Amino acid sequence: MSRPLLSATRLKLWEQCQTAFRRIVIEGLEDPGGDEAHAGQFAHDVLAELMALPGDARTAARAGDIADRLESEYNAEHDWPDAVFDRGRLGVSGAVALYGGAWSGWEVLHVEEPIHTDIDGVPIRSTPDLIVRVGDETVLLDWKTGRPPRRDDQPEAFRQLVIYAILAKRTGLVERVDRITLAYTTGRQVLTVELTPAMEHAAVSELKQAAREVDDALVTGEWGLNPSALCSWRPCVADCPEGQANTRQRIRDGRKVGRFGLDAAGG
Ligand code: SF4
Repeated sequence: MSRPLLSATRLKLWEQCQTAFRRIVIEGLEDPGGDEAHAGQFAHDVLAELMALPGDARTAARAGDIADRLESEYNAEHDWPDAVFDRGRLGVSGAVALYGGAWSGWEVLHVEEPIHTDIDGVPIRSTPDLIVRVGDETVLLDWKTGRPPRRDDQPEAFRQLVIYAILAKRTGLVERVDRITLAYTTGRQVLTVELTPAMEHAAVSELKQAAREVDDALVTGEWGLNPSALCSWRPCVADCPEGQANTRQRIRDGRKVGRFGLDAAGG
């Protein structure tokens, strides 16, 4: 069996739990997605359409019109509760609050452009949400509808964007990326840093290391297991005794568990 195509998201999953990576990425265990993921998708879709408009059309009213149209389209296709759309709209209004006055002046270069290339022998794909010119800087920005990371976890959160930036440059999508930005719309917080060669070097090293480890696991059949708070958010918990034990303990401790948690705890 050969190594599957990597992405920044898959890389993160590999580092969190190798067995989850095997079950989800290699064996194709499906994650139907929960309300939070659907709300994030809805907000992203609205913002993608909004950002593709000319600068002076990127208004709150236009965002509302797009949200109304997409909500009726999605209602025809999915059985999502109203809370998904309410939460998604909070993500959109958060983006308007963060940037509404400023983004009319952005020169939008790319919106959700899928890219696929090879980084030092490792094939990888990604889809950055947005690449814009702001003043004399090229900025790669990702919308996030989840909770902003704690300070210690911020470098990890930025690494996904570092990989996007490397891909965007190597594929010729843009000549340079000066800044990477995580815009936590629902949490109304912007994290932004200048992209440095050191960050790129570290991300490439980690990517190559992970690719080597995946190759080794495919040969040896040894996949690490890392029970954590994330187990109850993943479908692999259904047949993972360690993940189920972790989830039961979290429930006993009165801590939050994900959408697969209650089923797993009863197992
Ligand atoms: S349930 Fe947890 S420990 Fe088990 S495979 Fe999934 S992420 Fe890993």
